[in-house]
Amino acid sequence: MKKTILITGGSRGIGAATAYLAAEKGYAVGINYLTNQAAAEKIVDSIRQQGGKAAAYAADVSSEPQVTDLFNALDRDFGPLHALVNNVGILEKQQRVEEMDASRLQRIFTTNVVSCFLCSKEAVLRMSTRHGGAGGAIVNVSSIAARTGSPGEYVDYAASKGAMDSLTLGLSKEVAGEGIRVNAVRPAFIYTDIHASGGEPNRVERVKETVPMKRGGQPEEVARAILWLLSDEASYSTGIFIDVTGGR
Ligand code: NAP
Repeated sequence: MKKTILITGGSRGIGAATAYLAAEKGYAVGINYLTNQAAAEKIVDSIRQQGGKAAAYAADVSSEPQVTDLFNALDRDFGPLHALVNNVGILEKQQRVEEMDASRLQRIFTTNVVSCFLCSKEAVLRMSTRHGGAGGAIVNVSSIAARTGSPGEYVDYAASKGAMDSLTLGLSKEVAGEGIRVNAVRPAFIYTDIHASGGEPNRVERVKETVPMKRGGQPEEVARAILWLLSDEASYSTGIFIDVTGGR
């Protein structure tokens, strides 16, 4: 039987690359998205054409009732959950801290942090041996911004990723004895649409010379780290971080 994986924000960018690679590795893939149904369905069709199993689910993962519905739908369609990738993340226009208002901060922290707690909660309820589950693995898609702080661009986003790192550490220890491993990847400067939300679609091109490898990263390079952390190859690793940053 195929293992089941849920990837939040799987319709584009790093999430989409993770969905394709997970299918290649034999997972049945649940692809969550917010609005871009066409992109999500395209990935589902492509996976099915290759003989894989996939389905797309619209849900705003910062909303508790929508997260509950999402996991219930996945239970119904795929059975037991084995792996969760908390990949959803947003950023907003580049600003200094003194320009940020509360509504922006609420959007950033609700989408990037609360969603991660809510989805992790549902995953633990299903995977933990404490709740009758058979174990599993969670990977959080954080950012190197947690370490650099993103001054002058989006300190709010960086702080949300810092919170995600603390969640990774705390939850990993909380459930380590219950069959669940919790790890994170911390990418930087990956070619995806996210930079357009910051007001600079070509940001990676501008900053790539500051990367020791002198190039931006591809979503597939992040996906490979995610799939490794989820796999049995990483069976003795929990609460760890893999930086996918070209040496930054
Ligand atoms: P992206 O290309 O902007 O894709 C974002 C994905 O999240 C889309 O699938 C989008 O769905 C979905 N989404 C957004 N808000 C959602 C919500 N409330 N509920 C459900 N889905 C939602 O992003 P990306 O660059 O691949 O980033 C993925 C993760 O990597 C994020 O956590 C980001 O912070 C992190 N990261 C990225 C970089 C980078 O350089 N790209 C660097 C470090 C960390 P729709 O398609 O429906 O809009």
